[in-house]
Amino acid sequence: MAYFYSGGRLKVGAPGSNGTDIHDLVKDQTGPVYIYDLDNVVKRFETLKAALEGGGTLRHTIHFAMKSNSHPAILAKLASLGAGVDTVSGGEVKLAIEAGVPADRIILSGVAKTEREIEYSLSQGIKQINVESPQELARIASVARKLGKTADVAFRMNPDVNPKTHPYITTGFRENKFGMDESFLPELIAILRDTPQHLRLRGLTQHIGSQLFDLAVMKEAIEKTIKVHRHLETEGFQLDRLDIGGGIGIRYETGDEEEELSLVRDYGRMVREAIRGLDVELLTEPGRVLVARSGLLIGEVQYIKRAPAKTFAILDTGMHHLMRPALYGAKHRVLPLHDRGAKQNYDICGPICESSDFLAKDVTLPELHQGDRVAIADAGAYGFVMASRYNAHELPRELVVENGVIVN
Ligand SMILES: *Cc1c(COP(=O)(O)O)cnc(C)c1O
Repeated sequence: MAYFYSGGRLKVGAPGSNGTDIHDLVKDQTGPVYIYDLDNVVKRFETLKAALEGGGTLRHTIHFAMKSNSHPAILAKLASLGAGVDTVSGGEVKLAIEAGVPADRIILSGVAKTEREIEYSLSQGIKQINVESPQELARIASVARKLGKTADVAFRMNPDVNPKTHPYITTGFRENKFGMDESFLPELIAILRDTPQHLRLRGLTQHIGSQLFDLAVMKEAIEKTIKVHRHLETEGFQLDRLDIGGGIGIRYETGDEEEELSLVRDYGRMVREAIRGLDVELLTEPGRVLVARSGLLIGEVQYIKRAPAKTFAILDTGMHHLMRPALYGAKHRVLPLHDRGAKQNYDICGPICESSDFLAKDVTLPELHQGDRVAIADAGAYGFVMASRYNAHELPRELVVENGVIVN
């Protein structure tokens, strides 16, 4: 599944096919719209699943990190393929259940779980809570006691590795707020031993960051976590899960999916090697790698403004709908729905009264006219979920496409 031009029009479909004309999909829409290609999500899920299994049998569950995209049709589709979800709030747990994800496939992560969120999640019977601190573990124990339940927990380790990604998306370095190092273990173990009837330690979890490409760093983190796993076993804990988080990156600069699908296959091989000999259910929490490529954000050119220094194409969508360029300096490909042949250099901006409101800077594109529609590519992850109504603009619409037709 890819985006390509044919007869000067942007299409989505298998390379070599006729494809579906994006303009036909959105021509009846007014205002900015996200389009998600469900087939692309399925293809990526199946690729990751096959990579992890490596043709053999591996006890594992892929928990889609739904903070990257919580559209109910995507959650339902992934659940139908056997996926669970990784959530980071009570609100996400609720959305997942409403979308039909079985509670026993829901993990609750997140750094500031409130008593209400813990109570709601435990009463729904979710699979596991990933614990970020001793105080949180004590809180989970007290809520579980109140409900007369036993909470299945995993300790989030901070393996102190440097994944060489954007500083805002590293999470497994000692200076990050996420997870715990081994110095926390005595306190955690004391709480477990104090409340054995309400807490059940299932294993460890880690998530070292996002936009990761370096398999050696990922492997180092898994190996460090497995060391702690072994240590806990010698302390008498029977651990039957290992959660290695998410984070596989995508190359936003190019539309080349083959490179990242081969990274996914190498990742699967690396993981199988790293956990060899461990008798656990392997849990993964991928977000971006499953959904980023599936999404387009489509806006309309309101004005072309030729200033002395540069030419601005000002759209009806911007940082309030896709924050990644403003937040991380992320670069997304810009694909006008029509290619008129001539090229021109643009800054692609939105309507928000902030100078950080841009979607792309200094990009050479097919010439744009007022009223043209423009797609921002690879916007399926961390797009709509971060959208706001800043400046009292409306939220963008979301359309889900399967087999070239709108299904939702
Ligand atoms: C954000 C997050 C993920 C997913 O990260 P991606 O880079 O989108 O794969 C997985 N696990 C946890 C705990 C997260 O916070």
